[in-house]
Amino acid sequence: MAGGNRIKVIMACQECKDRNYNYTKNKRSHPDRMELNKFCPKCNSHTLHKESR
Ligand SMILES: [Zn+2]
Repeated sequence: MAGGNRIKVIMACQECKDRNYNYTKNKRSHPDRMELNKFCPKCNSHTLHKESR
């Protein structure tokens, strides 16, 4: 059966702590916490977003 290890994660802005992005990832291929530069509407700029759950 398909399904695997998909988990839902939230990317939160490290400046204002807003949770701006949701996505699903494969836990097996991405076991680490991800950090991405994403646009935060509240900060109105690109900031570091970290995975939070
Ligand atoms: Zn922000």
